[in-house]
Amino acid sequence: MGKPRPNRVKRRTSAEPPAAAPRPPRRIPADLSKQAPSNTYSPRLYYEDLEFKCRDCRKREVWTAEQQQWWYEVAKGPVQSTAIRCRACRSARRASPKRTPPKSHKERRPGGSA
Ligand SMILES: [Zn+2]
Repeated sequence: MGKPRPNRVKRRTSAEPPAAAPRPPRRIPADLSKQAPSNTYSPRLYYEDLEFKCRDCRKREVWTAEQQQWWYEVAKGPVQSTAIRCRACRSARRASPKRTPPKSHKERRPGGSA
């Protein structure tokens, strides 16, 4: 009579998605001569896609290697600066660069001496 054998079933579940090969992050070698000079910070040797969280809306966004290259080499952004706001918040701030302060000293009434 047969003892109940543990029935090992090797099943390949086709329901699972195939293991995606880890995509190597894009890396662009930097042109150090184009970067803004900085004696405090070490220069960027390369640019890599960088994920960050927006300071304003807390949304996660990727600062791509191309954008970094543009920022550091074309716009001459400071080397120590990184992205802090997402694209939407940046353009929103650019649309209204100056907020008028809610209170002004000029609103004080003259002659209000007690
Ligand atoms: Zn944002």
